[in-house]
Amino acid sequence: MKITSISLYPFVLPLAKPYRLSGGRLLYEQLDSTFVKLETDAGIVGWGEGCPWGSTYLPAFPGGIRAAIAEMAPTIIGMDPRQTDVVNAAMDMALPGHLYVKSPIDQACWDIFGKSVGLPVYELLGGGIDQDLRIQSSIGTDTPEAMVADILARHAQGYRVHSPKIGENVDLDADRIRAIGEALPVGDSVTFDANRAMLPDSAIRLMHKTRSIDAYFEQPCETYEENLQVRRATTQPIILDESIVEFADIVRAQKDGACEAIGLKIERVGGITRARRMRDFCVQTGIRMNIEATGGSVLADTVATHLAQSTPNRFMRATWFCHEMLTVDPCEGGARNQQGTTRAPSVPGLGVEPKLHMLGEPTVHP
Ligand code: MG
Repeated sequence: MKITSISLYPFVLPLAKPYRLSGGRLLYEQLDSTFVKLETDAGIVGWGEGCPWGSTYLPAFPGGIRAAIAEMAPTIIGMDPRQTDVVNAAMDMALPGHLYVKSPIDQACWDIFGKSVGLPVYELLGGGIDQDLRIQSSIGTDTPEAMVADILARHAQGYRVHSPKIGENVDLDADRIRAIGEALPVGDSVTFDANRAMLPDSAIRLMHKTRSIDAYFEQPCETYEENLQVRRATTQPIILDESIVEFADIVRAQKDGACEAIGLKIERVGGITRARRMRDFCVQTGIRMNIEATGGSVLADTVATHLAQSTPNRFMRATWFCHEMLTVDPCEGGARNQQGTTRAPSVPGLGVEPKLHMLGEPTVHP
């Protein structure tokens, strides 16, 4: 089987509520996504999505996906999409680095692979676990009372893992953490995610002030070294998210004891093929995971759900659904929210298809 063409469909995903990144980064009202369609000489079509959450969250931007796929297209066309490692190696030869641009191509290859053998992608990634996956709620920074109210509302909807955003100021954040810690229903779990907005001194002070509260802290600081400094001065479990990009990052974090869990974002690490390698390393070394999309529609969320569904439940913390924050739903099928939990679709491939009539005219390579 050979890939015969690559079609790129830029697509704007409006957010239901504007979203401001911590640390003074930009306010978003919409996300700029790209749906990628691979066609083959066998008549099987595969889909992937690239949505790097604007241009200021990661060293990645929406236009980069479109430009880099145009650059790699002559290499990708003619390859067998079922040979996922071979396709990834060829993309690395054609364009070193730029992992996020390779993710939608890799996703579409897995979609085709699954469809070609009549199996859902999770079966190809080690086999589905017969358990529902937890979806974590994302709680915006607000007053302690408003954040508690939001978490209790999400609990009533079935969510059991919550990710309130912090990182503004140590005293205010300590009030938020104490209020949430006191109000958290028994059995629920909470991660205070700073999205790298803090300096080490603030993160250490905050974690010392709130030491008695059972909680995870996610990516308090910008760099790996700063987070390691925080890890060494505190006792609460730490989740590294943005600091984990390449395989060497997770190896170093495990060796240093830098974190107890990671945020494994499919797009940031370069697709399913690379995320699976990291997932397997984490399972072997006792690192728990949130497996999720960087952003995007239900297509991107479903890709992450397939990897999560094939991950032993003990190593999974939760997934997250970006598509619930949007005002449009440009796809049929996919992993959907069922009272705060989900499952990957059990049909061949990824089990999610964009609605072509919503997408507009693509750019087609060659
Ligand atoms: Mg995070």
